[in-house]
Amino acid sequence: MSETFTGSFTQQEPIPDEGIAAALDVLRHGRLHRYNLAPGEMGEAALLEQDFAAWIGADYALAVASGGYALATALRAVGVGQGDAVLCNAFTLAPVPGAIAAVGAHPVYVGVTEALTIDLDDLADKAGQADVLLLSHMRGHVCDMDRLMAICTAAGVTVIEDCAHTMGATWRGVPSGRHGAVGCYSTQTYKHINSGEGGLLVTDDPDIAARAIMLSGSYMLYDRHLAAPPPETFEAIRYDTPNISGRMDNLRAAILRPQLRDLATRVARWNARYRALETGLRDAPGVTLIERPEVERFVGSSFQFLALDRPSASIRDLVARCGARGVELKWFGAAEPVGFTSRYDSWRYAPAPDMPETDRILSAVLDMRVPLTFSLEDCARIARIIRAEAAAVFQA
Ligand SMILES: *Cc1c(COP(=O)(O)O)cnc(C)c1O
Repeated sequence: MSETFTGSFTQQEPIPDEGIAAALDVLRHGRLHRYNLAPGEMGEAALLEQDFAAWIGADYALAVASGGYALATALRAVGVGQGDAVLCNAFTLAPVPGAIAAVGAHPVYVGVTEALTIDLDDLADKAGQADVLLLSHMRGHVCDMDRLMAICTAAGVTVIEDCAHTMGATWRGVPSGRHGAVGCYSTQTYKHINSGEGGLLVTDDPDIAARAIMLSGSYMLYDRHLAAPPPETFEAIRYDTPNISGRMDNLRAAILRPQLRDLATRVARWNARYRALETGLRDAPGVTLIERPEVERFVGSSFQFLALDRPSASIRDLVARCGARGVELKWFGAAEPVGFTSRYDSWRYAPAPDMPETDRILSAVLDMRVPLTFSLEDCARIARIIRAEAAAVFQA
């Protein structure tokens, strides 16, 4: 009998007891709205912003309703509007082109490399076509940020980082989200801290911070923020910045604060699982692993490998065979998007030129989630199953 896997690729860990207790406190006092405060009370949303800014070393932080909302708010706050072009990855998730569409702009897609990072040569070629880059560290792979920033600085391109998969990661010791003008994070259930839905945004630029806070729906109550620029900064913009409500509430913030305190431990646990998968798949037939740069400290909350230049039929077969044994692989090369979209050609409202180099890589990417409910033995078993099926499919 060949072994199977019975764990769930979508089952996250429970909310820690400390988070449950904090959430119950909020439910009992009833002040869920972030600006509904008792005398002397700071509120969980403002405290989360203060915690997050301190943790990541940013001057300002804002908690919002989702990661996608943080991206659209960052675009608006740096001045992107109707008809503008925005550089972004051809390999990203639907909320990224969605955020660009939300502000009436359109994407200029930049290709992907075999390291699953943005193609910096392609970026250098296209940098003159837009004033802003919305950069996704897709699936947690961080590109050479020194070179990326050099290209963008030289071309006068403002960088917004989508760190949905890199909360807790660093490049040469600099936290992900701290190279560009704005860093955006998601606290949706499948990301690194879980409040169901939610997002965060950080910046050191007081004007961007003030505009983002006004945009998020602060009703002139910006003095109740603990990680915001001084009230004078708001004077210049408060009558000219629309309220596009997307605040975070105290309940979700209460759930997140203990998780943020525990994030370093979680990162270590994710990476142990990631390394178990990597070890188990090393030199598997037909499988190319993604070598992680020394200077990248990543968060292995998902795992990718490539089946480069293999026929679609074989990859489909591999996915089906692994699926039959309980190992859920996602394939970005499938003809129709299933459950998610991460390819530039799935977003037909934002037309793109042909990108054959990118197509070659996307059609080879296999991906799986690595929830912390998996044990190290689970990861070793998953790798054995993939390895056996890859041998059956690619050596047949
Ligand atoms: C999850 C995610 C987002 C934001 O998603 P929300 O569901 O809106 O929080 C943005 N970019 C990428 C790459 C993501 O995976």
